[in-house]
Amino acid sequence: MADSLWNPALGAMGAYAVPAAEGLVKLDAMENPYGLPAPVLKAFIERLPALAVNRYPDAGGTALKAALGRAFPVDAAFASVLGNGSDELIAMLMQSVLQPGACVLAPEPGFVMYRRCAELLGLRYVGVPLREDFALDLPAMLAAIDREQPQLVFVASPNNPTGNAFAAAELAELARATPGLFVLDEAYIPYAEGDGADFAAGEDNVVLLRTLSKWGLAGLRLGFVQARKPVCEALEKLRMPYNVNALSQELGRICLEQAGAFAPQIDTLKTERARLAQALAAPGVEVYPSQANFLLVRVPDAVAANARLREAGLLLKCLHGTHPLLRQCLRISVGRPEENEALLAAWPGAL
Ligand SMILES: *Cc1c(COP(=O)(O)O)cnc(C)c1O
Repeated sequence: MADSLWNPALGAMGAYAVPAAEGLVKLDAMENPYGLPAPVLKAFIERLPALAVNRYPDAGGTALKAALGRAFPVDAAFASVLGNGSDELIAMLMQSVLQPGACVLAPEPGFVMYRRCAELLGLRYVGVPLREDFALDLPAMLAAIDREQPQLVFVASPNNPTGNAFAAAELAELARATPGLFVLDEAYIPYAEGDGADFAAGEDNVVLLRTLSKWGLAGLRLGFVQARKPVCEALEKLRMPYNVNALSQELGRICLEQAGAFAPQIDTLKTERARLAQALAAPGVEVYPSQANFLLVRVPDAVAANARLREAGLLLKCLHGTHPLLRQCLRISVGRPEENEALLAAWPGAL
């Protein structure tokens, strides 16, 4: 096969790497460590016999969308689009603006899929560094937006991998400066103080990108966009007709209708986040403030600490080398109390 066969972006790229987690305490992927609440599981099992998996799923996802609208209320001018995880919606948003010279802009370090998808689709990607303390560098962002005239700006708040949330006033200033769509990625809202629904209602180009993954349903692959109707209509044109399968639609709907059943899990994880943040602090260790279900921690030697923790049976994410601002940084998802205990037991010896 000729080299010229392939999309040129593939040459410089590896497949998205997911490390093996067998036998390890898995604190690397921001999963909710708890399984389905018992009443949710019971309702799902009761529904299973009536689920027509011989038929294609509801192409419009009507029942799931109605449940989403109730669980995540937004302005009446907004509609929603379902995705097979928000990753798929990131790619769809980019496809929707695809044209020669089109540009995607995002602060960095940020969510890696923005760059990855842009490069795969042949969009120009511009990353703008955050400040040393991971705050938005507003003048630099505004200058870059003015210079590049991006079709899409992506900002995750709370941000992955830094954990901090950005102020609504700053987001509004960026959204107003953006000539195209301003995508606010709210993957971590279950763990954050407040959300962007009011901010989105006040600006005409804001797209809310949300997911049930970090809430506790990463395996279902259920993401959704909430945005003004013309944006949703454009996305519907390029959405693969049955992108969200029947089992995910059904279990997603049940989970949303019993959202309260997840509250004790989320509360425990927020309490554990605060406990871990305190307990991980040590001389030479900096724990950054987090409104997500993970902590970003700077240690004296991240690669060595990560290797020692792996020996001790703990899987974290070492970010050293991925971005200059993340030197000596580890990202640690908040686990169940006993998992966090295992981390804390190994921590002093790993530093
Ligand atoms: C995890 C994550 C996502 C991806 O979520 P899926 O719905 O599981 O695809 C999107 N954005 C950010 C910032 C994330 O951290």
